[in-house]
Amino acid sequence: MKFKLIVLSALAAAATFTAAAQQATPTPAIYSAKTLAELPLVRDAALKSDYAYERTRFMTNNIGPRLSGSAQAARAVEYVAEEMRELGLEVRLQELKVPHWVRGIETGELTEFPGMAKGTTQKIVLTALGGSVATPESGLTAELVVVTSYEQLERLGRKGIEGKIVLFNEKFDHRLSDSGEGLKAYGQAVRFRGGGPSAASRLGAVAVLVRSAGASQMRLPHTGGTRYADDVKKIPAASVTYEDADLIDDLVKQGTTKMRLVLTPKTYPDAVSHNVIADLKGSERPDEIVIVSGHLDSWDLGTGALDDATGVAAAMQVPYLLKQLGLQPKRTIRVIAYMNEENGLVGGTEYAKAEANNIANHIAAIEADLGASHPMGVLFAGKPEALPFFTPFLEVLREHGSGLIRTEGGVGADIGPLTQRGVPSFAPWFNTRTYFMYHHTAADTFDKVNPEELARVGSVMAVTAYALANMEQPLPR
Ligand SMILES: [Zn+2]
Repeated sequence: MKFKLIVLSALAAAATFTAAAQQATPTPAIYSAKTLAELPLVRDAALKSDYAYERTRFMTNNIGPRLSGSAQAARAVEYVAEEMRELGLEVRLQELKVPHWVRGIETGELTEFPGMAKGTTQKIVLTALGGSVATPESGLTAELVVVTSYEQLERLGRKGIEGKIVLFNEKFDHRLSDSGEGLKAYGQAVRFRGGGPSAASRLGAVAVLVRSAGASQMRLPHTGGTRYADDVKKIPAASVTYEDADLIDDLVKQGTTKMRLVLTPKTYPDAVSHNVIADLKGSERPDEIVIVSGHLDSWDLGTGALDDATGVAAAMQVPYLLKQLGLQPKRTIRVIAYMNEENGLVGGTEYAKAEANNIANHIAAIEADLGASHPMGVLFAGKPEALPFFTPFLEVLREHGSGLIRTEGGVGADIGPLTQRGVPSFAPWFNTRTYFMYHHTAADTFDKVNPEELARVGSVMAVTAYALANMEQPLPR
């Protein structure tokens, strides 16, 4: 593992900072005594607020799924912009061209398999991968072959693959996920979703199935984007449930197993969409920016509650809380609701491109995009020398069990391009034990959001953002 685990015994450190400020020692303080006194107020206001919860409700129950290019995604842009204007923020929309892919009919059935009752079929529960091309309207029928690695695929070669439907049967590691490391399990399981279809197509496969890269064992398929290579024929690609992958694997081991697959998604020309950018101007250094963010688009099967209405709503709540408390940050706090994280990362990429000459003024970027379970603290991507700067606000967050910090190479997809350009980056550090049961499935809905935990996520976002916006010294970077 490349991260370092740092558990801060922050109580003593915070006391030291406070004492230093009170004695007005010549050593410049990281935070003023006033800021240190305000941070607990921000935290407590967040814990009492249902602002983020109610915004999550609206984005999910009222607007619904928000896949790039959809009418709901456009409505969500409008909604966040309106809400931010209502708070008195300076709002602009950054225009983007985003992929516009629309799911169609998707069915699968086994039409031939060992021991079958005459005249029957077996239903296979599946869902198209985002960006997949369609099968013929009447579907395609072909023999199934199961692999668990690219090496195995290569060994089978054209002779073993041509004309067949390939199932990449990589199992999601429930042990990792049960121990709170769902993201690591996802990282391992997801490797065939992007490149699998093109690798199989190179050997003449007619379609690809991937085992769901998630923890659901409720026969829910898990979608996500696939990426076709430019130099190879695009073939239809779908994700099958945990249960159906096991079924196919079992039958294929017994003998010839054939499947009929119907997928009728459509890819339209790129659509116009937007990042929503809303500034709460700083009082002393308005040109310097601390970003709080999430992504506004979602997959289309559920209503994108945990992924990522909660992240956007927690970011929107930061200026709301500061306004409520009558606090103006010294630097500008910029709310960004990014568009198209899921199937293109256009919003994050284009934002960083547009700000290429202004990176130095981006003091920090925070993104919440791993659900809204209990936040244990903060993930940080940046120089380790910066870690002592965070002790005082982590101590404030420790009150609700969110005082840990862990360093990572990257902490959020949309802010990734900023992280790579040296902007110190942060995210709430979630336990991801349950997240991948719902992520990218039809079950990612509002009922999964725990209001108390979302309030704590809001506190992590607001306290971190306000502290960084009010630092008396720049962060090492
Ligand atoms: Zn997400």
